Amino acid sequence: MAGHYDLIVIGGGSGGIATANRAARYGARCALIEPGPLGGTCVNLGCVPKKILWNAAAIQNSVDRAPDYGFPSFSGSLDWMALKSAREAYISRLNDRYGLGLRDNGVELLRGRGCFVDSHHVAVGDHTYEAEHVVVATGGRPLVPNIPGANLGITSDGFFDLTERPQRVAIVGAGYIAVELAGVLNSLGADVSLVLRRKHFLDRFDTLLREGLMNAMMHSGIDILTHRQVTEARKDPSGLSLIARDGETLSGLDSIIWAIGRAPRSGDLGLAAAGIGTDSDGYILVDDHQNTSAPGVYALGDVSSRIALTPVAIAAGRRLADRLFGGMTDRHLDYSQIPTVVFSHPPLGTVGLTEEEAREQHGDDGIKVYRTEFTPLVNAFAKEPDKTAMKLITVGRNERIVGLHIIGEGADEMLQGFAVALRLGATKRDFDDTLAIHPTSAEELVTMR
Ligand code: NDP
Repeated sequence: MAGHYDLIVIGGGSGGIATANRAARYGARCALIEPGPLGGTCVNLGCVPKKILWNAAAIQNSVDRAPDYGFPSFSGSLDWMALKSAREAYISRLNDRYGLGLRDNGVELLRGRGCFVDSHHVAVGDHTYEAEHVVVATGGRPLVPNIPGANLGITSDGFFDLTERPQRVAIVGAGYIAVELAGVLNSLGADVSLVLRRKHFLDRFDTLLREGLMNAMMHSGIDILTHRQVTEARKDPSGLSLIARDGETLSGLDSIIWAIGRAPRSGDLGLAAAGIGTDSDGYILVDDHQNTSAPGVYALGDVSSRIALTPVAIAAGRRLADRLFGGMTDRHLDYSQIPTVVFSHPPLGTVGLTEEEAREQHGDDGIKVYRTEFTPLVNAFAKEPDKTAMKLITVGRNERIVGLHIIGEGADEMLQGFAVALRLGATKRDFDDTLAIHPTSAEELVTMR
């Protein structure tokens, strides 16, 4: 036996690191198993590099509207490789910082892939480690469609490897990644087609946001192709092309990006040896306390059957450590009212129920909906300005706010504080009684009639 621990965490992404650090601070003897760079998808191939590109796109958007404010127009374009180098250097510093954090907390970092021998023993290479508790936090990977020519496309992983900005790109998919990458590439000057198999994207979002974003994206020049089920990708002398089920072809592409969802990284963990159950897609089944079907084994983050968002994984992991090692016996994550932002152009922020969900749960007579739409001051001089739109959904006679949805500039930064208010059970009256901050877009949320 190479080592005995109170806790072994398999996977050094946001959720796994947060769990190990919190547990170690309670005095637990912890090991974390990770073969690659620390920080997982979010830091290395997701949120962080994406947000940096989103910032670059926002700078470009500001440059584009600078003449409206009396600045001379500026015709330079982004040096893609300069930004890539700066981004990679920044991420490398984050990787180091995570390593130092683990070291400072006394978490032992085991380099390699972990595989269950049984529910309390995990093998890494030739060594086997034992622990009272094991957390699986191995994350996920992007899906590629099972169609001819799929290997001609890249996923979000490959996107971050690109050494130059694609000129004519098709993005296939309808989730966060598809709309975020479409917005970034369009703002940075690429010719973007977004290929949807249905008539809309972001299926689980309120229609105000879905429809508003689709209009804004089309208005910004993105070619949105609906009802196109892609059945093949091809390469010929004129470039790459996508063929849809009805035979329609989108050709002359230099890049195809698959953004059709993600799959859990659970296949090579030896889950069966430990008696850990999964669903048919390989997601590890967990209850509200992150317990798997194997006593003493827990799962969290994108490998688990719960919502795939970095802050959710971190919060679930910290609460699990509080419960296992901090004496907080019923501590667990409340999976309701999870605020989330899509870094589209413009961004979306949403927390709580959509109008559709609220009508289903409370009936048409049980809810009240407030909406507003306006031109944010920053766009006041634009000829065809992007609008901001907001929606509040209340239930009951005291009008408790159960849904809050924003599309527009600043939605990403506006949402966090309002998510606190919803968590505290705020009513419409509480919003009405809160003084507005003027002139801002956020003030519209407390002045709706
Ligand atoms: P999502 O699960 O969000 O969306 C993928 C969508 O693509 C599906 O819902 C489906 O939509 C569509 N799709 C599936 N298969 C096909 C197909 N064969 N052809 C065309 N379209 C298809 O996946 P993402 O990869 O975008 O993101 C994964 C997760 O990562 C997200 O759910 C989110 O939790 C997280 N994430 C969060 C971000 C943030 O917080 N800002 C940013 C990026 C990712 P439909 O059925 O409507 O066609």
